[in-house]
Amino acid sequence: MIKVAVTGAAGRMGRLIVKNVVEDEELELVQAFDVVNVGKDAGELAGVGKIHVPITHASELELKLSSDVLVDFTTAEAAVNNICVAAKKGVKLVVGTTGFTEEHWKKIKDCCRVPAVISPNFSVGVNVFWEIIRVAAKMLSNYDVEVLEMHHRFKKDAPSGTALKAVEIIKEVIGDRETVTGRSGICPRSDEIGVFAIRGGDVVGEHTVFFIGMGERMEITHRAWSRQAFAGGAIKAVKWISKVEDPGIYGMRDVLGI
Ligand code: NAD
Repeated sequence: MIKVAVTGAAGRMGRLIVKNVVEDEELELVQAFDVVNVGKDAGELAGVGKIHVPITHASELELKLSSDVLVDFTTAEAAVNNICVAAKKGVKLVVGTTGFTEEHWKKIKDCCRVPAVISPNFSVGVNVFWEIIRVAAKMLSNYDVEVLEMHHRFKKDAPSGTALKAVEIIKEVIGDRETVTGRSGICPRSDEIGVFAIRGGDVVGEHTVFFIGMGERMEITHRAWSRQAFAGGAIKAVKWISKVEDPGIYGMRDVLGI
């Protein structure tokens, strides 16, 4: 059995990860951390009944963390700390949190001396979407590129980690361009990539990349309508990382063998 701990266990993704771990016979949920719902049973919060794993306050992570893998879906600031604590304790990582700044990445790279899968999107479909974008960018390198993403009203960061990853891939192929995250007033288009975020309701996550030429455009779209698309991928990553011995930051490309 692979022993799994979850940080952000009371959140939207965390509860679903708890449910998936509890329902998987290769995995055992041993600890759950959050800063809210402390003391409540993680299984009851996740809707799978009592599992006798209470939510422990995240301030006790350093003292108490003891699992094979820690799964983190929290906030960027919290995740950086959780990653460094887990690494210090030799606990492998699966991190889905998004919104990391360059400063955050510097800290993560400095302290993450364990095998870790860090991905802004764990869905299998989005990882294929990124590969298709890579091919399209090669073939349509002189077309204008724009990215549109849509998420639920509670999402904290913008643009989404998935949209930024798409932009990163496109720039790897066509060369560096300025990223523009809004247009207003006099702003003629230059060689830039526009990235736009829509927020509302309960939209789980939608991304479209537009390659726009003279007289035609291509749109590549991925839509997720259930968070299970992410949770299922994160569970694949837990099983995969549990067998990896070499420290380093891996992505879903490695997990899926793309
Ligand atoms: P959420 O707000 O529902 O949950 C976050 C949880 O983290 C909350 O319960 C919060 O109390 C808790 N938290 C805050 N600080 C903490 C700390 N120091 N230690 C432990 N827990 C702490 O958010 P969500 O929708 O579950 O998303 C969480 C993150 O995952 C976001 O960054 C989101 O963009 C990202 N996300 C990634 C994927 C992916 O596939 N990689 C998919 C969905 C969401």
